[in-house]
Amino acid sequence: MDFSISEEQQQFRDAVSKFAKNELNNNVVERDHEEVFDWQGWNKCGEFGLLGLPVPEQYGGQNADIVTCVLAMQSLGSACEDAGLLFALNSHIWTCCIPILQFGSEEQKQNYLPALSSGSKIGGHAMTEPNAGSDAYAITTTAVKDGEYYVLNGTKVFTSNAPIADVLLIFASTDKDKGFAGISAFLVDTEREGISVGKPLAKTGLRTSPTGEVVLENCRVPVSSRLGAEGAGSAIFNAEMEWERSCLFASHLGSMERQLEECVQYAKDRQQFGKSIGEFQAISSKIADMKVRIELAQLILYKVAWMKGNGKRAQLESAIAKLFTSESYVQSSLDAVQIHGGYGCMREFGVERNLRDSLASRVYSGTSEIQRNTIASWLGI
Ligand SMILES: Cc1cc2nc3c(=O)[nH]c(=O)nc-3n(C[C@H](O)[C@H](O)[C@H](O)COP(=O)(O)OP(=O)(O)OC[C@H]3O[C@@H](n4cnc5c(N)ncnc54)[C@H](O)[C@@H]3O)c2cc1C
Repeated sequence: MDFSISEEQQQFRDAVSKFAKNELNNNVVERDHEEVFDWQGWNKCGEFGLLGLPVPEQYGGQNADIVTCVLAMQSLGSACEDAGLLFALNSHIWTCCIPILQFGSEEQKQNYLPALSSGSKIGGHAMTEPNAGSDAYAITTTAVKDGEYYVLNGTKVFTSNAPIADVLLIFASTDKDKGFAGISAFLVDTEREGISVGKPLAKTGLRTSPTGEVVLENCRVPVSSRLGAEGAGSAIFNAEMEWERSCLFASHLGSMERQLEECVQYAKDRQQFGKSIGEFQAISSKIADMKVRIELAQLILYKVAWMKGNGKRAQLESAIAKLFTSESYVQSSLDAVQIHGGYGCMREFGVERNLRDSLASRVYSGTSEIQRNTIASWLGI
């Protein structure tokens, strides 16, 4: 296993960091409070080439390998304080661009990928329903074939990017009797008749990333909008989750690195009882634990990237990476608040925002409990 980074990857990582520091951090405190999506930042990410990072150049992307994607997301997480913008960007790439790239027809790739890569179109995916979250394959949204069309009916919840999306990958059952093998995926333009998207839901964290409900009422989509074969929905979902569990969580790793830097600086600067608080072992131990979590999260995330880059599946390893990184992110965010004392609880310092932003990481892309179930099942339990 070789985790060394090429000079080209190093330069790209540095360029991403510089770009994010200069362009993506305006008014984050206010936008978080007012739940405002950064359209300007989004367009700049498109111009920089981040929105189609793994997409081949022929479809308008950068053709970046997965290790480069992980490094870029880590760098973004470290340099960009707007975790909501990064969450929107990650949903767009891993749950819309990647499935089109991996499972789409040539026509679907040409139709969608150039616009998604430039950012002129925004994508997302909708699996979760009011009564089907962790039990994703219990979805009740149906797609019934009617000649050259499918008719979609059902309700999706918690869909990232839904209020701003132009296209959503919708999962629906085409054959209830087959359970997970009867689930199919459809690319549905949000302008289409029969699909309506709710207002952004108010969230604890990631407040600059719009999340919403999607309602399908006799929404007719042409057969050509089905992604992959009928019944391929669960394979598509699993494949995109492997990407998301490595690349999205690499941006969380980057956030943890920024958090650590801030905590080290604060522990050196803040004086109590005539010395810097970093001299108290209770504080320095927290900082040491934050560093350990970062190193271990980085190792497992890089391992997943290395495996996928070498053509291997990484279902077990991506579950471990997702579980460990999200739990670490929340614990380190709690520690950061504690290290900052009262200042850590004040909105203007951003420390409490990191904690709020981290919370949902234990829930999306499969909860921590579900990751543990997956890991145990790989061990035959
Ligand atoms: C910010 C955010 C963004 C999201 N974006 C998207 C998106 O873009 N598209 C999308 O489709 N979904 C999205 N989701 C939904 C997310 O995938 C679900 O919330 C998640 O899968 C959990 O489902 P649930 O909320 O229904 O919780 P439930 O499944 O009801 O779980 C409730 C609790 O029970 C536990 N539990 C459930 N089953 C088991 C079990 N078998 N063993 C042990 N414990 C169990 C869970 O771990 C959890 O602690 C998003 C969620 C959030 C918070």
